[in-house]
Amino acid sequence: MSRWMPESVWLGRSEEASPLAQRVLARVGPTPVYIVDDTAVAEPAGDFSAGKRRLVLQPHRGTFLHHCPAGTTGMVCCNYLVLNFASNCPFDCSYCFLQDYLANNPAIKAFTNPGDGLDEIDAILKAKPDRTFRIGTGELADSLALDHLTDLSCELVPFFAARPNALLELKTKSDCIDNLLGLDPKDRVVVSWSVSPPALIAADEPGTIPLEARAAAARRVQAAGYTIGFHFDPLIAHDGWEANYRAAIETIFRHLDTRRIAWVSLGSLRMTPRLKSLIRDRPQPASVLATELVPGPDGKERVWRGMRVKMYRQLLAWLREVDPQMPVYICMEPATVWERVVGHVPADRELAQRLVAARA
Ligand code: SF4
Repeated sequence: MSRWMPESVWLGRSEEASPLAQRVLARVGPTPVYIVDDTAVAEPAGDFSAGKRRLVLQPHRGTFLHHCPAGTTGMVCCNYLVLNFASNCPFDCSYCFLQDYLANNPAIKAFTNPGDGLDEIDAILKAKPDRTFRIGTGELADSLALDHLTDLSCELVPFFAARPNALLELKTKSDCIDNLLGLDPKDRVVVSWSVSPPALIAADEPGTIPLEARAAAARRVQAAGYTIGFHFDPLIAHDGWEANYRAAIETIFRHLDTRRIAWVSLGSLRMTPRLKSLIRDRPQPASVLATELVPGPDGKERVWRGMRVKMYRQLLAWLREVDPQMPVYICMEPATVWERVVGHVPADRELAQRLVAARA
């Protein structure tokens, strides 16, 4: 697949010598590079879609590690931590929350000081050696979409491979896996793909690779020694959803070793009213707006609860047909939904422990 290239690269003078900037500058070919005063690089002007064509290289100020927002809103929590080495993403999914979250600062940023983030993590892992942490880099960015420019995975995989009490998740809709294939994750790195039926990918995920290509990349990564994961998130109710999701499951799991799957998540389409209005303003009509959504207690709108439960139960049944031991969890849902789908609610920390222990 072709790899994303920015239309311009911006960096502050003091970052020019950083190893990450050096790697990027060596690979962007004839792309214009603007080296400016450090204060001028922070927020180049432009709208959200222009921001997705521009790469800014700058150090990250503040902490790299945060708790996933699901833990604060009355939802059942899987104690997931997010590690931000970049912000924004070259893909353009119609439903992406970054349109709202980064609306005022839309450039794609790759942080030039990943070593500071790894030092931060190292201190936390050493302070709590008896706890195993699930940590992912795919919250404010696609984990691998810039890896052909930054080689960030070449720092992350060896770091986590050497730490027994953490699992790193690299979540992507790309097949930028070349670096991964030459590294040994020592069972400490999960590579995962967000997945949807092909028709939804074509309509709502511009720039990403097709489902078949995600499945093929997963097979290669699994063969290279990684455990893998999948996220049916967002699940989108649409005419024909049953046949389409069933076919997607068949495509994904056809040639995989299901014993080497770390987790599969199910999460319903959700959006804030502000995101909904931003989606309405997109130049191309988004099929996700055809779904009727109702507000929930966390301020986000979702398809009504009965439909969510029906979809979760159905996908869970199909996944358990593939492998009765498939480790499946539900994302950003309250206890009542868990109860109706799986018959019980995991106790605090139980879900996280089950996920890090699965297939260990
Ligand atoms: S791949 Fe993820 S981060 Fe990128 S646009 Fe799509 S939803 Fe947003």
